[in-house]
Amino acid sequence: DGEIEFDNVFFSYDGRTPALDGVSFKVPKGSAVALVGGSGSGKSTILRLLYRFYDLKEGQGRILIDGQDIRDVTQKSLRQAIGVVPQDSVLFNSSIGYNIGYGKFGSTPEEIEAAAKSAQMHDRITSFPDGYNTKVGERGVRLSGGEKQRVSIARTLLKNPPILLLDEATSALDTSTEKDIQKALQNLVQGRSSLSIAHRLSTIASSDVILVLKDGHVTEHGSFNELMEIE
Ligand code: ADP
Ligand code: ADP
Repeated sequence: DGEIEFDNVFFSYDGRTPALDGVSFKVPKGSAVALVGGSGSGKSTILRLLYRFYDLKEGQGRILIDGQDIRDVTQKSLRQAIGVVPQDSVLFNSSIGYNIGYGKFGSTPEEIEAAAKSAQMHDRITSFPDGYNTKVGERGVRLSGGEKQRVSIARTLLKNPPILLLDEATSALDTSTEKDIQKALQNLVQGRSSLSIAHRLSTIASSDVILVLKDGHVTEHGSFNELMEIE
């Protein structure tokens, strides 16, 4: 489970200009794919279509997960199979532990703690995103963007989906935060199929396959080493 295929996908938001113009690629089970390309090249549209924010019409190609057309899968089971880590993670105004636990209904405190640990957020489990700590009853430091993203990573670890959609933050994060996020992401991506909108060179280099997009077309497709050979 977790094999993804885009089969000659066309998509247009306005019915005229194509956002995706005949996109085909396969993500073998368990492999990491980096989507690379300029603004407006179609990266987000690929993720939105896989999550079924929009459905493809007849004759505009197919998207398959494990050989099954995603239009034949219920939204509910599709969303159970796919974890999303957005660029700007929005959190509930509740403890970090609660926010992480939201990833899996009925999760135990031990499971939440383990997920928090994998994302290096375990020392803030009783804090709220605004910094209020229920344990000490005082207001501390509010969560940074990078910490919010790590909460979202921990929540997705707990959810344990076979497929991941990741949107790497473009904003400049300090180097230590960035290292912590990379570590947490490595834990998350391990053993799952992932599609990442990649901005960092380290993410691109560590992906199994890189898809380069331009104007809704895949212009390059290969491993980092393969692409580096291209003149
Ligand atoms: P990227 O993620 O690579 O920046 P997108 O997939 O967001 O690119 O956009 C692909 C094309 O679709 C662009 O031409 C963009 O202007 C257009 N587009 C994206 N989202 C919308 C939308 N909600 N409504 C209309 N056009 C959109
Ligand atoms: P649905 O999209 O069908 O409502 P869920 O409620 O299970 O499905 O949400 C899917 C994923 O999106 C969850 O794993 C959760 O991490 C995240 N999510 C849903 N709602 C929110 C929200 N308000 N804030 C942050 N994350 C959310």
